[in-house]
Amino acid sequence: MTIEEDDDSFKIVDEEAEMAEEPEPTPEPAKKKRKTDKKSKKAAAAAAAKDDNTDSAFDPQFTFAIDGGGSSGPSHAWDFTAARDMLKEKQANTVARTSIDEIIAKKRQENKLKRKKAAAAETEKEEQADVDDDDEDIAADGFGGGARDKTMEDDDDDDDSDSDDSESDEEESGQSEDQSDTEEKNDEAEEARKRAYFAPDEENPTASHDSFTSMNLSRPIQKGLAGVGFVKPTEIQARTIPVALLGKDICGGAVTGSGKTAAFIVPILERLLYRPRQTPATRVLILCPTRELAAQVHSVATKLASYTDISFCLCVGGLNLRRQEAELKTKPDVVVATPGRLIDHVRNSAGFALDTCEILVMDEADRMLEDGFAEELNEIVKSCPKSRQTMLFSATMTDNVDQLIRMSLNHPVRLFVDRSDQAATRLIQEFVRIRAHKEADRSAVLVSLCRRTFKNKVIIFFRSKVAAHQMKILFGLLGLRAAELHGNLTQEQRLEALELFRDHKVDYLLATDLAARGLDIKGIEVVINYNMPNQFAQYLHRVGRTARAGRNGRSVTLVGEADRKMLKMAIKSANTGSQVKNRVIPAETIQKYKKKVDQLSPQIEEILQEEKQERAIREAEMKVQKSENLLKHASEIYSRPARTWFQTNKEKKTKKHSKH
Ligand code: AMP
Repeated sequence: MTIEEDDDSFKIVDEEAEMAEEPEPTPEPAKKKRKTDKKSKKAAAAAAAKDDNTDSAFDPQFTFAIDGGGSSGPSHAWDFTAARDMLKEKQANTVARTSIDEIIAKKRQENKLKRKKAAAAETEKEEQADVDDDDEDIAADGFGGGARDKTMEDDDDDDDSDSDDSESDEEESGQSEDQSDTEEKNDEAEEARKRAYFAPDEENPTASHDSFTSMNLSRPIQKGLAGVGFVKPTEIQARTIPVALLGKDICGGAVTGSGKTAAFIVPILERLLYRPRQTPATRVLILCPTRELAAQVHSVATKLASYTDISFCLCVGGLNLRRQEAELKTKPDVVVATPGRLIDHVRNSAGFALDTCEILVMDEADRMLEDGFAEELNEIVKSCPKSRQTMLFSATMTDNVDQLIRMSLNHPVRLFVDRSDQAATRLIQEFVRIRAHKEADRSAVLVSLCRRTFKNKVIIFFRSKVAAHQMKILFGLLGLRAAELHGNLTQEQRLEALELFRDHKVDYLLATDLAARGLDIKGIEVVINYNMPNQFAQYLHRVGRTARAGRNGRSVTLVGEADRKMLKMAIKSANTGSQVKNRVIPAETIQKYKKKVDQLSPQIEEILQEEKQERAIREAEMKVQKSENLLKHASEIYSRPARTWFQTNKEKKTKKHSKH
């Protein structure tokens, strides 16, 4: 064992012992209770709205679950009602598809029939021959399909292979980068530049508020906070809200799950309460790097603003463009957007501009400052007035002046809570070593982890969309309930995957780094990294999907030989009090699952082929539908001005590879 040498706290764990410690899954909420909760929530909201200005109507202790009682504690942020609404209109024009789940189900049904037939044939054979031993040995040796299947309980499955090969096909998260890039060089000159660039530290307050009530927030905002169950500000909130209320630029960093969203939403809402109402204008723009994160921020903001008249619009790709155009015409106070769709609207939606933007927020700002987004960001910043307030937030926020300079910040206040290179305190980080000659066992290792130990509320990260999709098929064939989330899916499928996982209708979310940042998925108990990500910041974002807001969580990372440097960084990142462990899976267990995985390979291939054919048919149907539409609505379509974009198609394509 070599990896243990890296750190004293790196212990060997017996997996079976670990299994006994696994927490009980939280029971699913009863449907009936949901209904009652929803009713009482409506009644409470109505009553509260009525007495908006009376002190007696406000009870800071009062909390109710915004999602209708789905989970205890503060509400969970996932409510895609707005996004779903926009999808409905879009779907009316799309061709129906056969889902991958339907294809897998069909294959499983075929497998069952085959097994039944094989078992019947086997029994017949047994009855005829009076050979009465060997069955088990034959099964263990992998001869004679029927007997083997019997020893595998009702696990379905058939054939072989290593679905990992295709992983390098389609890298989503960019080139491998030297980790030393992330380790800041804090030399003297750089420090001096920072001192000149940022506001002096005296303006950086220490957390002094242990309750929202002491923050001088207006009553509707306090009610909104109580409504979502927030009583005490988190550290980033306690430090950010007072500074943001003063209108200062902010560069904020705090570990994932520490409440950054409310840290910038609350002061925005408070300031908007005092806006002049005669002329409606879009005064706030919140930018997020992914559609899902934007939908989540929009949902949190809307809930916190429940007792105000502040209006919002969600502008992200994949959702109905015309509906967004119509909403933007009404000049919503706050626009939550992804950069691409926003630029599309700025250029092509009549009457929409950013010249009234007073506050610009960038969530997961370091991601947005990376190359893939640089052009779009410049275009947006250029369209906003210089005099605006700008707030940048991320769990791995940088104070690298070179990167920040193009955001034209005005002496931003640095608000860094915790070190940005640390994982959450209550996170247990586990590592499973994959030796160089055992790389082909990766899928089997994952399947054995999921079959034996981590049975629900697990998010699994893959480097590529192709790998996530193949694992979805493998999981499906093995009867493990999983949804996939990556950029090869439609927006409808992406939201659906998140909802299925949120509602515990699937146990596993198989995702690319699309889901690594910002998403607040309540109750994720385990994050599994099928591969170590290429960048350490990405590792922190991924494992940050669990152990959020002071809860416990566990990450399990499959570590290949090439990942040793990253492993060291991960061990170093462990906070005081958090644990680092080496998980060992018995070799015979891996072999058992490898056999199963190998057996299923031809079926995975067949399913992929079937899917390809299905896609080709659908595309052809869509083409026909498009031509019909063109014929039917030709005059209207051709009378519309052509949509413009700030880059040529070629430029766009070259930039696109680094985005999701
Ligand atoms: P965020 O970092 O904004 O994604 O928030 C992480 C989680 O912390 C979310 O589930 C929030 O609902 C929760 N949260 C944020 N602020 C508070 C607070 N003041 N009190 C309790 N929970 C909070």
